Amino acid sequence: MQKKTLRYRLYPTGNQTQALDHQLGEACRLYNAALQERRDAYQYAGISLSYYDQANQLKEIRALNGCDLANFSCSQDVLRRVDKTFKAFFARVQRGETPGYPRFKSRFRYDSITFPSYGDGARLRPNGKLYIQGVGEIKVKLHRPIACRIKTVTVKREAGRWSACFSVETAGAPDTRMYEDIGIDMGLESFAVLSDGTVIDNPRWYRQAHAKLRVAQRRVARRKRGSKGRRKAVELLQRAHEQVRNTRRDFHHKVARELVERYSVIFVENLNIKGLARGRLAKSVTDAGWGGFLQILRDKAAEAGCVVWSVNPCGTSQTCTCGAPVPKTLSQRWHKCLACGLSLARDHVSALLIQGLGRSLVS
Ligand SMILES: [Zn+2]
Repeated sequence: MQKKTLRYRLYPTGNQTQALDHQLGEACRLYNAALQERRDAYQYAGISLSYYDQANQLKEIRALNGCDLANFSCSQDVLRRVDKTFKAFFARVQRGETPGYPRFKSRFRYDSITFPSYGDGARLRPNGKLYIQGVGEIKVKLHRPIACRIKTVTVKREAGRWSACFSVETAGAPDTRMYEDIGIDMGLESFAVLSDGTVIDNPRWYRQAHAKLRVAQRRVARRKRGSKGRRKAVELLQRAHEQVRNTRRDFHHKVARELVERYSVIFVENLNIKGLARGRLAKSVTDAGWGGFLQILRDKAAEAGCVVWSVNPCGTSQTCTCGAPVPKTLSQRWHKCLACGLSLARDHVSALLIQGLGRSLVS
């Protein structure tokens, strides 16, 4: 069984939008109340409350707060989010970091509610609409069928738009392809280079989208804090961000689809994206969104029954396929081995090395 998330656009009416905003607002209020309770317990009594402590009192808390979040399981999910926040906090403390104490969330930033078991508070009706408890039946654009068992439903607000995410379970399809493997190197000038020499370029829209983003960012900076004009400018900026995200995601999906259709085994670099993004490669790495792409590639591969292997990329930019060291600085884009005479583009050689490393791992 594979888990994946299917996302559909929602088209609520004016009244439904108000009701949705209200549900999110109530969830946010509950979130903050639960957070407050944990802070107080910790601060004044030195007690660390658990999810179960809070869930056991949920009925009372809801009554006490006049909580208007319609669905009970949805309220439990809010407590689970608080729990997750605190667990992450304590984990960081334990690692010796000094994280900020979990903070209250603003009503404007609390952007989703989750119904943890499908059918309880959220369900697709035979008329094709999505029923949400406390809101009603919302028009949903089912642009592709959901042919799997739905586990959870999350309703999201993004830049004034609404969508529903269904997490589903699917059975992986049997693999009928011939065995063929490929190594992929994250390109510096291009998006990626394959071990067969194919160069996948970054999409051309990227520069334009970035220019647009900068304009939107400057507009926000010019508007007065708290003004109506600023709120509007922020919404436009969010929309510009969303556009970039969507276009990038589409590009990633397309590349991933082509790869899993052709190859049964795919070797990729096991990149420490977080570490890399901080360093000198920052721009190209975050731009290309390599981490997001790998996630999509893994999901698609799991669906298609092909395998993605991560290999340790250590040295793949400094050695030759023959094993001889060929030191290169970042600006040196061509690989020329004095030992075996191999002369190829730098990223192509890296992709070949990744494939080689992968093959040795598999066998
Ligand atoms: Zn060589």
